[in-house]
Amino acid sequence: MTSKAVGVVGAGQLGRMLALAGYPLGLRFLFLDRSAASPGGQVAPTLVGELEDPALLRELASRSDVVTFDWENISGGALAPLEKITSIRPPRDALVTSQDRLLEKALFTRLRIPVAAHAAVDTPEDLWRATRDLGLPGILKTRRLGYDGKGQFVLRRPADLDAAWAAMGAAGLIYEAFQKFSREVSIIGARSAAGKIVYYPLTANTHVDGVLRYCIAPFVDQALERMARRHLKRVLESLSYVGVLTLEFFVVKGRLVANEMAPRVHNSGHWTIEGCVTSQFENHLRAIVGLPLGSTRTLGHSAMINFLGQMPGRERLLGIEGLAYHDYGKEPRPGRKLGHCTIVRPNSKDRDRVLGHTLKLV
Ligand code: AMP
Repeated sequence: MTSKAVGVVGAGQLGRMLALAGYPLGLRFLFLDRSAASPGGQVAPTLVGELEDPALLRELASRSDVVTFDWENISGGALAPLEKITSIRPPRDALVTSQDRLLEKALFTRLRIPVAAHAAVDTPEDLWRATRDLGLPGILKTRRLGYDGKGQFVLRRPADLDAAWAAMGAAGLIYEAFQKFSREVSIIGARSAAGKIVYYPLTANTHVDGVLRYCIAPFVDQALERMARRHLKRVLESLSYVGVLTLEFFVVKGRLVANEMAPRVHNSGHWTIEGCVTSQFENHLRAIVGLPLGSTRTLGHSAMINFLGQMPGRERLLGIEGLAYHDYGKEPRPGRKLGHCTIVRPNSKDRDRVLGHTLKLV
């Protein structure tokens, strides 16, 4: 078999973990990133420059059998010329839809996937109307380029409208009714070019200040899992998707309300590296280079904890049985995702005990 080259736009931790999963398969990697010292740049060659630089994108595409993404906010316009040079996976439509919360919700609604009541907001009058029609509390978010709770303002009472507009006021916002959820969950699946789909089990996600703090998986709830799979299948098929896709949901009164999709491997799937026969990273690569998809069978009960702002000492954690440590090689900065650890244990009770203990150490 000739070694295939995978071009990756962006060389963050997702790109790094893709490359690390791809080397045993005999794949080669080439990144495009602003820095050669990035997490991905530490493990594979990197074209250094702006992520939307047309000449660099052209070079990346011409040196790769397939181009994929660590950073999915690349514009549809920058991507279009690459389609003439090589395969772009996942497809451009999926990226463009996921970049805009309004387009994303329109897709979900078309596919009969429930979403929070919402309205586009471009002016103070729109915001006033949205809070009148949809009620309070609610969240004002940027339609584009928001992540990890950035670009969001929670409105609880009418007096918050002015402050919300002062903080975020501009065209291109969305107001969403606040969801009183019991849980946040996500589902990750991979689809091959031939249309085969594999699903990972439902993962329960705990966020602090809008940022994922820890996950547990499998989150065992057969009814929710069936629903999540059905929703994911519809999105994958409607976009003729190839690769890994993630859907995030709120659980509201035993039903799933879709929050957003990520057209890529996802933080809530990092546990699959040690917790499943085939990780989300490997299955993304298998899908995009045309190899058979691997088993998503779990190897135990897993938890994943993000390391935010600082790396906890390895010495403290590596003595914990069943714990795997991941350092992304990033400079510490407050709140920044620098690494994670995964705990895999034979049963959920034991997993939860070790998770509770480890959370106190990080
Ligand atoms: P997002 O950037 O949309 O993923 O939002 C980050 C986090 O903010 C979510 O994981 C939730 O914890 C919270 N959040 C976002 N939208 C809503 C909503 N409509 N209702 C309640 N909480 C929300």
